[in-house]
Amino acid sequence: MFKKIYDVIVIGGGASGMFTAGCAAAKGAETLLLERNHQLGKKLSITGKGRCNLTNVGEINDFIDSYGKNGKFLYRAFTRFFNQDLIAFFNRYGVSTKVERGGRVFPVTDNSESIVNALRRYLQENKVNLGLNLQVKEIVLDDNKTDGNNKVIGIKIGGRKEIIKADKIILATGGLSYPKTGSTGDGYRMAKKLGHSIVSLMPALVPLETKEDFVKDLQGLALKNVSVTAFADGRKIIREFGEMLFTHFGLSGPVILKMSSLVVKHLNEKEEVSISINFKPALDREKLVDRLLRESKKFGLKSVNNVMKNFLPLRLVPVFLKMANINSDKKFKQITHQEKEKIINLLTDFSLKITKSRPIDEAIITRGGISLKEINPYTMESKRIKGLYFCGEIIDLDGKTGGYNLQMAFSTAYLAAESTVNS
Ligand SMILES: Cc1cc2nc3c(=O)[nH]c(=O)nc-3n(C[C@H](O)[C@H](O)[C@H](O)COP(=O)(O)OP(=O)(O)OC[C@H]3O[C@@H](n4cnc5c(N)ncnc54)[C@H](O)[C@@H]3O)c2cc1C
Repeated sequence: MFKKIYDVIVIGGGASGMFTAGCAAAKGAETLLLERNHQLGKKLSITGKGRCNLTNVGEINDFIDSYGKNGKFLYRAFTRFFNQDLIAFFNRYGVSTKVERGGRVFPVTDNSESIVNALRRYLQENKVNLGLNLQVKEIVLDDNKTDGNNKVIGIKIGGRKEIIKADKIILATGGLSYPKTGSTGDGYRMAKKLGHSIVSLMPALVPLETKEDFVKDLQGLALKNVSVTAFADGRKIIREFGEMLFTHFGLSGPVILKMSSLVVKHLNEKEEVSISINFKPALDREKLVDRLLRESKKFGLKSVNNVMKNFLPLRLVPVFLKMANINSDKKFKQITHQEKEKIINLLTDFSLKITKSRPIDEAIITRGGISLKEINPYTMESKRIKGLYFCGEIIDLDGKTGGYNLQMAFSTAYLAAESTVNS
C-alpha cells in the first residue's frame, strides 16, 4: 500500500499536520500524511465554537507577548509565515475572512468546515499521500548511524511490522486536550522514547471550579464588561476585563480562560487562589455611593430585590443579597448604612474561592510539551534526532485566546515543511 520510501512523513492530520504536509508537497517533497482518525482536522472543526478563529490581525510583537516567556522562540517562524500570509493562503483557496472584535479573524462563512475543506483541497492539489485510520506507534531510528548522530529512517504503524521509510518526519500530533478529537499525547510518548524532554503538561485556557456551590444556580449566566482579578495567597496575580460565564461547577468564559494558565500555576504551587469580580468597573466608589443615593431617592419605596435589578442581572440578585445578608423584601430606603457599604463592597469585590481547574480534557490548549531547548527555532528540527521536526501544539508553547494558537500551529508547520525540503 505504501511506497518504499517518502521524502517526508507527517504524523497527525490536524491543523498543523495538514498544513505542513501540503507545504512540503507544494515544495516538491513526496509526502505521506498519517492520521489516526477516519477524518482530518477533527479538532480544527470545533475551534472558535465551530467558527474557527484562525488568526489575529495583531502585530508580531503582540503575538510574541501572547505566548508568555516562550514567545520569542516563534520569531523565525512568524518571519517566514505570518497572519497576512495565512489569510492570503485561505483566500487563495476560496475562503474569505473577516475581522472581529480584538482583531480576531474568522472565515466569513462562520463555519470552521470551510477552513478544513480548504486544507483538504490543498492536500489533494499537491498530491499528498494520505493514510487515514492509521495510528503511528513508533518513530524508527537508524541503527547503523555512521557519524554518531541519531537520525530517523521511518515510522511504524500499530499492528504492522513494516517500517514506512522517510528521512524526514514531522511530528504534529497535538496536545492532550479534547482527547476525543484524537490528540491523546502519542507524540509526547514517541518523542520521550527518543530522548526528548517533555515540559510538564498542564491544562491552559481551561474553566475553573469554585468552592461556592451557589454557582450552579447561576449556570449559563454570562456577565459582560466585568473586571475580574485573581489573587494567590492574597497577592494580585492578574486582572482581565470582558466577558465571563457561570457554569454548574464554577467559572468559564473568555476572561476566565485567559487567566486560567496563571491560576493553574499558582494552584499547583499549593497557593490559595480566589477570584474577585467587579460588576461595575466603570464606576469608582464615590460614583457608586452617588448612584445608590439616587436610586434610593427615586425608588426608595420599592424592595431591595427590585432596585438591585438596576445594578445586576436578574438571576444574580438573590445570590447577591444572600451573600450581603440583606432581606430582599426590605424597602430600599430602609437599608442601613452598613448594608449600603456591604452592597458597594460586593458590587466591586464579589469573591469566589478557586479549588481547581477542570481537567486537561476540557482545556482549549495544553501547556508544556516538547522542550524548546531541544528544538532549533530556525528550522523546527530536533536538536537530538536528525530528520525529526515538530510543529503545532506538541511544542512547549501556548497562547492566549484570539487566534494565537492556530497561527502558531500554521507558522511552525510552514517552517518545518520549508526546512525539510531545504535541508
Ligand atoms: C474547543 C476548542 C476550541 C479552540 N478554538 C480555537 C480558536 O478558535 N482559535 C485558535 O487559535 N485555537 C483554538 N483552539 C486550539 C487549536 O485547536 C489548537 O491549537 C490546534 O488544533 C493545534 O493543532 P495541532 O495540529 O498541533 O493539533 P491537533 O489539531 O490536535 O491535531 C493533531 C492530530 O494528530 C492526530 N494524531 C495524534 N496521535 C496520532 C498518531 N499516533 N498517529 C496518527 N495521528 C495522530 C490526531 O488525531 C489529530 O488529528 C481550540 C481548541 C479547542 C479544544
